[in-house]
Amino acid sequence: MTANLLSSMDNLYGQLPTVTCKSCGTCCVSPTCTLAEFVYLMDFCVKNIPAQTLTDLLRQPARMHATCAGNLVCKFLQNKQCLVHDGRTGACRLFGVPTLSELNIASMEECAHGITVAQGQSDIEFIQDWLDDLFTYNQTLFACFSAPYFIKGLNLECWLDIYFENALDFDVFIDIRKIMHDNVDLHFLAERWKPLTSIKEKIDKIAVFHAMLGAAPVSELQDLLFSIRDDYPLTGTYYFEEAQAYLFRIEQESKPGH
Ligand code: SF4
Ligand code: SF4
Repeated sequence: MTANLLSSMDNLYGQLPTVTCKSCGTCCVSPTCTLAEFVYLMDFCVKNIPAQTLTDLLRQPARMHATCAGNLVCKFLQNKQCLVHDGRTGACRLFGVPTLSELNIASMEECAHGITVAQGQSDIEFIQDWLDDLFTYNQTLFACFSAPYFIKGLNLECWLDIYFENALDFDVFIDIRKIMHDNVDLHFLAERWKPLTSIKEKIDKIAVFHAMLGAAPVSELQDLLFSIRDDYPLTGTYYFEEAQAYLFRIEQESKPGH
């Protein structure tokens, strides 16, 4: 990993508050993260976990989480212990911080046992600024909100598929893969990696949906959105909220008298 990426992420993560909790592991779903965080996490894995162990971990079958709807169980959770604690993502570091409820980030404030902020800032302005800084840093790597691909909210499995999936050949994915490959070498895993999430198919459908929006019959748009929302459970929450919002909007706009 480049020194710049490493130090930038060390600096960002170093600003976050320290939280203590019961470490029950209940909230440990496959982490949703940005590109920079994925690279940081994988770099930590490569440096700290033997290649064969890491391969076996990442190739475990995906399991849907029993209570966190739409999420997969995190593969780094073993016997209620996080195997990648110092490399974990911002979502893992911030989960349960009470002020997150004010930001309306779905499912991020719902620790059933309560956590304690032991050290550092966790007020809403600080957390919002931190998230903005994370976003801004990722934008220095690539334009992550460029339509129609909306590359945000991807879980670990999606990022791994993008790392290995050359069929994802839009310019933005070629650029993202180059950043990944320049920063972390997972090629020891390549031979045994099988695409898991069908993220390409889902992204293709999202692109089709946006091309059809405003021009196609309502029923066709709805069918496409139902498929985008429901047919790719291993992509976790990627584009779930967006699909829901479009379904609501289309339903409202199709009502008589609108
Ligand atoms: S944040 Fe809450 S749910 Fe998550 S591991 Fe800690 S105690 Fe368990
Ligand atoms: S990376 Fe660690 S803290 Fe984050 S979800 Fe997985 S086991 Fe939990």
